[in-house]
Amino acid sequence: MDLLEYQGKQLFARHDVPVPEGRLAVSVEEALAAADDIGYPCVIKAQVQIGGRGKAGGIKIARDRDEAREHAEAILGMDIRGLTVHELWIEEASEIAAEYYASVVFDRSAKAPLLMLSTKGGMDIEEVAAEDPAAIARLHVDPLLGFQDFHGRRLAFAAGVDGDVVRQVGAMLAKLYEVFVSEEATLVEVNPLIVTAGAGDGTGRGVRALDAKVTLDENAMFRHADNAQLRDISAEDPQERMAKERGLTFVKLDGDIGILGNGAGLVMSTLDVVAEAGGAPANFLDAGGGSKADAITNAVEVILSNPRVRAVLFNIFGGITRCDEVARGLIEAFDQINPQVPFVVRLDGTNDQEGRRLLAEANLPNVYTEATMDDAARKVVELAAEASAS
Ligand code: GDP
Ligand code: MN
Repeated sequence: MDLLEYQGKQLFARHDVPVPEGRLAVSVEEALAAADDIGYPCVIKAQVQIGGRGKAGGIKIARDRDEAREHAEAILGMDIRGLTVHELWIEEASEIAAEYYASVVFDRSAKAPLLMLSTKGGMDIEEVAAEDPAAIARLHVDPLLGFQDFHGRRLAFAAGVDGDVVRQVGAMLAKLYEVFVSEEATLVEVNPLIVTAGAGDGTGRGVRALDAKVTLDENAMFRHADNAQLRDISAEDPQERMAKERGLTFVKLDGDIGILGNGAGLVMSTLDVVAEAGGAPANFLDAGGGSKADAITNAVEVILSNPRVRAVLFNIFGGITRCDEVARGLIEAFDQINPQVPFVVRLDGTNDQEGRRLLAEANLPNVYTEATMDDAARKVVELAAEASAS
């Protein structure tokens, strides 16, 4: 789950990572009240889950109330590469002496968190990685020993951080690591991590996180009740949200053949077999073991809520799941939803004969039964092609 910048900064603040003071606003009036409160100059920042907001015109400095109004009006409702801005973060302006980059990611191949630090912050880090990989210092942290002070010093020296802020950058990395571990994140990225200007003679400089990109581990969310409400509902796919609310394991794909199976392995093979037959699956949906009638109705509703779906394949292997239960579920679903697209059903395993008999008796319009997975895949691809041709 990706957080918006301001949510990431609020998480940072809870762990004492230095961040500028800010307020959220969803209207021009709220933005002005926030700006008055914070004082001028302040920064008006678009809150959307995408980088490069600055270049797109979504981040502006306001020196007074008139400028704050002008920027808030321009940025609210703005489209930044397909995302509409509904929220603004109003923040005290920072005087920037240097822009660094810092991140903690999970490096799966090393089975350890990886810290990265660069003095080439503020710009696209992928670009830095491609053009000047040596400019990014990297260090793995042993997950059992955790972050040690020498990690911070070693990275700061390797990256070439200014001498007067080495200690502060090290302390910031320690806190970012703490955020990563205790909030169960898979990514914590600060770009830019800034060195503030300090006094006129360059003394008293500090560091703060000027941007925040945080991804939290969805699978750990049950341990973080207050983080679960950070979900950006507007950024979520409505079909995936519907599936989640109904407790279904569902992944949206970009094809036109709806898929339902029981057991993740079987559903994955079904996707492969459909692709092999020349079709394009519209989703992954695992109805799980013991699929009862209401679970099937739920699943059919979720699959058909995608208007691109032209045909649906039901691939059930009865073990714990009984094929006659699935057949009853499908009959009930047809009764309630009356689908307009063809269904291909393959029932095999426990009570399959009974299941097929029930389906035959129900004589549902547009339902085809096939004995094997290959035949079922070929049939559904053929039906989808016919539907898109007509
Ligand atoms: P991004 O473009 O989506 O990554 O948004 P950032 O939050 O990283 O902001 C982009 C750039 O805006 C930063 O790299 C800064 O150069 C600039 N910026 C943001 N806040 C301030 C501020 O308070 N003062 C100044 N001078 N520049 C800022
Ligand atoms: Mn940034």
